[in-house]
Amino acid sequence: MAPRIQSPSSINTYKQCPRKYYYSYIEKLPTKPNIHLIRGKLVHTVLEDLFKISIEDLDNSNYNEKLKNRIQNMLVIEWKKNEQQLKRLGLYKDDLQFYFDETMLMVLNFMNNFLYRVESRIKKGESFREAFKNLTPLTEKKYISYEHKVQGFIDAIEEIDDEISLIDYKTSKTARISSEYKLQLAIYALLYNEKHKKMPHKVGVNFLKDVTHYLDVDEELLKLARFEIEQIHMSTETNEKDEYPMKPGPLCRWSTGQCDFYNHCFGKK
Ligand code: SF4
Repeated sequence: MAPRIQSPSSINTYKQCPRKYYYSYIEKLPTKPNIHLIRGKLVHTVLEDLFKISIEDLDNSNYNEKLKNRIQNMLVIEWKKNEQQLKRLGLYKDDLQFYFDETMLMVLNFMNNFLYRVESRIKKGESFREAFKNLTPLTEKKYISYEHKVQGFIDAIEEIDDEISLIDYKTSKTARISSEYKLQLAIYALLYNEKHKKMPHKVGVNFLKDVTHYLDVDEELLKLARFEIEQIHMSTETNEKDEYPMKPGPLCRWSTGQCDFYNHCFGKK
């Protein structure tokens, strides 16, 4: 069997629990939508679209307020577009409002961090439009390596002052580059390096509740990516369920939810 194309998320799923990988990527069992998935997608759309808007009406005197208003409006519109899907989650009205408010804080925090960078460039002599253009990343780029049989979507690629950074946006509670995130970033660096034949300088996670945390890209990071990709291909050669053991842990069931495959593993409880 030809090795299937893996991704940072499939590799991390396997490392979390091989049986979960089996159900997700081999049996491809349906999963239930949840607020974190819907909200994550929605925020990504807003942040991607932000850099496509016209800035013709903005200048040094008005950009700050107008950009803040704009991102708030974009979130409201995107939230509305997903209203039916959000309703189907069956959350209490207050809980849904909490998530909306929290998401608004995230996009405003993103904007404040962005505006801070715009302002620094203006202080160095650029106009607002020059600064906006120079700080605009390439967004949502799909990379695929047929050599390593792995793919990934990079949220933002920045090339600023001759420094290339690959950024992933996260809505997570904790602003820390965990081993899962590190692997995801390492794979992005590998994909970028293979396609463009040059190393990015940094990879990072923009924690939307916080700031961007970076890692330097070096040969060690690429080695980690190559090693983990090799491991997953070796571990997933077969389609036999028994070869994907269950790895019970706190992510099987927690106070407010459970793994999508809990009933398959443990029956209805
Ligand atoms: S319920 Fe637990 S053991 Fe079963 S697939 Fe999910 S994480 Fe793995």
